[in-house]
This record gives sequence, structure tokens and C-alpha cells, in this order.
Amino acid sequence: METQARLTVDIARLESEGETYKGETPIEVLDLGESELLTPLSGIRYTLFIQLLNTELLVRGTLSVHLQCTCVRCGATFETDAVDRDFVESYEISPENEFMDLTDAVREAIILALPGYPVCREACKGLCMKCGANLNTSKCSCNRKGNDMRWAALDALDAQMIPKEEEEHEDLDRGKKRGRKPTVKEK
Ligand SMILES: [Zn+2]
Ligand SMILES: [Zn+2]
Repeated sequence: METQARLTVDIARLESEGETYKGETPIEVLDLGESELLTPLSGIRYTLFIQLLNTELLVRGTLSVHLQCTCVRCGATFETDAVDRDFVESYEISPENEFMDLTDAVREAIILALPGYPVCREACKGLCMKCGANLNTSKCSCNRKGNDMRWAALDALDAQMIPKEEEEHEDLDRGKKRGRKPTVKEK
């Protein structure tokens, strides 16, 4: 089970009292595209109890993925696990269903468990907006009253790694120059 590309339940062979599926998908299954803040370091790890109750296939368990993240406040990279301990999915099964593919459901669930704004630790002080000093490890003499540290970290990221091609980033830049925070649009 552990190395197959799709996470598939063989319904005909499922033990009548239920069965635990434990393993890890290939790392490619969790495709996060161009994410600048999150890089998966593992496949999706799963421990799932799977049971056929009459015509309902019930799947419950825990999902996790090991990630490398970039802190949105200070720009540091750190590793963490995103975990979904309450994964539940059920499927109506007809007699001709021999297999059930759980891959997409598992992927969608773990994506919801990923940190949207990863921080290296809750107390991260971020970077100084004026001089860029990492305030976790050093002090600077800038007057920071009224500054929002999180934007300093984003500026540092912009300078490091963001190619200027997406319109959204340009909007962000313009917003900052005018001194207002850009609003985040739901897609
Ligand atoms: Zn940080
Ligand atoms: Zn400073």
C-alpha cells in the first residue's frame, strides 16, 4: 500500500470489521504549485480506519505532511507538520464499485490544514521595517512606533525572490507606496 501513487481502497477485499490503512503518498500528490511560503518535504502521511457499513464506505483518521515554511514575519525557514486529526469521508457504494480512490479527498483535506500565514513561532518579532534588522536576534535604533512588522518581512521576501510578473504583487507594491494596506481578495 505504502508506495502506490493513488490511495485506493480495494472494497471487495476489505475486512468486514474494518481495516486500518497506514502509509504515505508520493510527495508529488500534494502539488502546491508556485507557493513561496510552503514546500512539502514528505508525501501525505495517513492512518485511516476504513469500514464498509451496508452500502456506505466510511473513512476516518489522521493525515499529516512535513513541510518547510517561510516565516511571513521574519523570512526564516523552518520545518513543521500540518496535521488533520479529524479526517472523515463517506461514500455511497454500489455493487459494481470495486475500488474507491481516496487520493483527491485526502489532498483537499490536508490543503485545508496547511498554515495560511506560517510563523516560525508565535512570539516572532519579525524584521524592522526601516533597516531590515531581524528583531528576534538583534536590536536596532529605529523608531518603530506605528509600524507593522509583518510588511517588513514581506518587503524582504519581495526583494529576495518574487519575480515581478503577477499583477497581484504589483497591486501590493502600489498599495504599500500609498501607505495603505492592500486588502486580500478571496479567489
Ligand atoms: Zn519568524
Ligand atoms: Zn531598524
